[in-house]
Amino acid sequence: MSIVERMKNLSEKECPVDILRKEIAGSKCSDCGKCVFGYEGVTQLQMMLGDITEKKGKGTDLALMKELCALMKTQSLCEDGEDVADAVSYALAHHAQEFEAHVAKKGCAAGVCKKFMTYHILAENCTGCGDCLDACEEDAIAGKKRFIHVIDQKECIQCGACMDACDEDAIVRAGAVKPRCPKKPVPCKRK
Ligand code: SF4
Ligand code: SF4
Repeated sequence: MSIVERMKNLSEKECPVDILRKEIAGSKCSDCGKCVFGYEGVTQLQMMLGDITEKKGKGTDLALMKELCALMKTQSLCEDGEDVADAVSYALAHHAQEFEAHVAKKGCAAGVCKKFMTYHILAENCTGCGDCLDACEEDAIAGKKRFIHVIDQKECIQCGACMDACDEDAIVRAGAVKPRCPKKPVPCKRK
């Protein structure tokens, strides 16, 4: 299946920015090198799409990608470069809202791009065991024994280690809608 066909067949659970980034990374242009516009174009696109999914996208990235793809479409030596250009142009035209939301750092609607997710500790499930605090290398969790633990969103780097460490399913990952959680550690209600 061509990349443009893949972009036309996304499920609701998929993020167009994330899928486009992965498809372009696996394109033939990325290890061919026979033409400048194919190879350099794909390299630049990979960098911009990587930044966008990592919450480091710039306001100018979308216009730059459009310009680049118009050149790739006419200057690439084979249909693989054209396919990349068509796929990016299609994605930018049909998923403009998702791209803009990523660049404006508002979120990833599909809940796929990790850097756009936040981690939270649910007061009703936390037993205050401290396992999450021990697992967090960023010191982003506050708490003590038998107190509901709290994640400091400014310090959290969204690695997910705390979620893996919690046996009580007390830690959740959230997109645009965040759960209500205590702002500082308070005594646990759970026995
Ligand atoms: S969130 Fe989980 S691991 Fe952390 S203190 Fe609460 S129960 Fe323990
Ligand atoms: S996601 Fe990672 S950095 Fe954030 S609180 Fe959990 S362990 Fe710490």
